[in-house]
Amino acid sequence: MEKIVSLCKRRGFIFQSSDIYGGLSNTWDYGPYGVELKNNLKRAWWKANVYERYDIMGMDAAILMHPKVWEASGHVQNFFDLKSDCLSCRKRFKSEDLKDKNKCPECAGKLTESRPFNLMFKTYQGPVEESGNEIYMRPETAQGMFVNFANILDSRHPKLPFGLAQIGKSFRNEITPGNFTFRTREFEQMEIEYFVKPLDAEKAYNEWVDARYQWYLNLGINKNNLRLRPHAKDELAHYAASCTDIEYNFPFGWSELEGVANRTDFDLKQHAEHSGKELTFFEDSTKEKFYPYIIEPSGGVDRALLAFLADAYNEEKVKEDTRVVLKIHKDLAPTKVAVLPLLRNRPEIVELAKKICRDLKKIMVTVYDDTGAIGKLYRRQDEVGTLFCVTVDVQSLEDKQVTVRNRDTMLQDRIPVENLIKYLSDKLI
Ligand code: ATP
Repeated sequence: MEKIVSLCKRRGFIFQSSDIYGGLSNTWDYGPYGVELKNNLKRAWWKANVYERYDIMGMDAAILMHPKVWEASGHVQNFFDLKSDCLSCRKRFKSEDLKDKNKCPECAGKLTESRPFNLMFKTYQGPVEESGNEIYMRPETAQGMFVNFANILDSRHPKLPFGLAQIGKSFRNEITPGNFTFRTREFEQMEIEYFVKPLDAEKAYNEWVDARYQWYLNLGINKNNLRLRPHAKDELAHYAASCTDIEYNFPFGWSELEGVANRTDFDLKQHAEHSGKELTFFEDSTKEKFYPYIIEPSGGVDRALLAFLADAYNEEKVKEDTRVVLKIHKDLAPTKVAVLPLLRNRPEIVELAKKICRDLKKIMVTVYDDTGAIGKLYRRQDEVGTLFCVTVDVQSLEDKQVTVRNRDTMLQDRIPVENLIKYLSDKLI
């Protein structure tokens, strides 16, 4: 884990938030490579779950919602953890993590009794800070999709089953954030709400568990590091009939990446009751009105990104040296190609390399680097997972060919410049 955190900082994937002020604990900023990786990950999720399907539409709901949403959803009453405070060192603990409920695990001081702590961030809407203006930062993106159910029916007239997909920020005032980006107070979720006839719910639930598990494998996660953990009945959330976690074997142990739940008709019924609006589905063929069941695959962008980084991190012996290489899936790699001139003091070579780079940039994410010897440049690109390095040398000026080096095999091909775009595109698609 230390190696991954250090690589993230050293190479510009992830930085501590507000670093120059000593940092805001457990809050992280994505740097130049991190944002590319994150965007690629979200794009891969959107492609698999929206573009490649016939039955799912995208959405982007606001973070701030009517306070009644959180009463209807059960978050005001139920979304809390139990916490205990140390009377000596003032540290706060999640009660379920404590071995001894009375003694502080850090300073052995006396602990308060465990008390419920609501995880929602509260703020005020408008200039006056009074109770009538209280509003919450959403703790999940899901509710934005439930409350738009009637709008979707009226505007798009979908048949069952159909789904809504959304990616966006959520906020939870976690008592014990930690493990780098695994548990933070501000994070991004990728969620699907899939509406089905009640009798089809368990089948759809099982299909979603398989589909989501497979998505991680398709993007290169090692099968030995991924497992499914069905919830026991006494573990289920108040709204769920069944739930399975997809877990990853992080450096700190097996932990949840994503949850897939059968939420029954709980959400639509609750919102219908609290809003007084009609939220049933009218099935034309049978002339029946009913509340659809909802299957929800709910994953974290930041957790998935951390899992993909951990899984791709490799150290390999090359002759006397060790190379760090991020063997990340081609669709996720932040940079696809690096163009490297072999001799930076030869203007014709630099000119040709820059022209190749300019042409490639129009088609794939390409960088240019001439700030070191070739061995060093290769290592630098390996560390950030760049798929191909194109080197331009003296001979390139005569034979109009360049060397293309593969990140994973380190094998090299000599390719005519005029075929380069096709050669690389074929490998990337
Ligand atoms: P946990 O048990 O780890 O707190 P959860 O079961 O409360 O997670 P859900 O409410 O099911 O999580 O949220 C769906 C997904 O959102 C999680 O699988 C995770 O990937 C992500 N997520 C939830 N809380 C956080 C957090 N504090 N930081 C980062 N990601 C989170």
